[in-house]
Amino acid sequence: MGSRQGPPKHQNKFAWKPNAGVKINETEVGGRFRPLSEVTGVCLRCKEQIEWKRRYGKYKSLTEPAKCQRCSKRAVRQAYHNLCPGCAKEQSVCAKCRCHVGRIVGRDSSEVEAEQKLLDEAIKNARERDRRTLLRAVSSLKQCFSAI
Ligand SMILES: [Zn+2]
Ligand SMILES: [Zn+2]
Repeated sequence: MGSRQGPPKHQNKFAWKPNAGVKINETEVGGRFRPLSEVTGVCLRCKEQIEWKRRYGKYKSLTEPAKCQRCSKRAVRQAYHNLCPGCAKEQSVCAKCRCHVGRIVGRDSSEVEAEQKLLDEAIKNARERDRRTLLRAVSSLKQCFSAI
């Protein structure tokens, strides 16, 4: 922010600052050093909408988990989502527009984690030929997971 000396014209009562005029901090989420995680749990259309916002700098990431509009738990971790991953998955709907989707993009982290464990187990017991296939699957999962 500014380097102007003296008291500001309007004393802020709240710590909250509007985004306007804030310099981009590269170490903040969305900055160069902390790229935004992948958009997951939504239908393709919503994913595109959210990515559009990101591209044009209109995206505001959540500073704290938002309330799920179904279970009212503060479990919504992605901006613009209306449902938590659990509810969206349970109803197989998009977490944003709540349309019924056969396939949502991406996965939620708990799902990835569970799958990772299963795969690790499977790899331990797999024969050499299967092992390679599994390892490929695991590395793509890991990419997915690290993006969250
Ligand atoms: Zn919920
Ligand atoms: Zn949607």
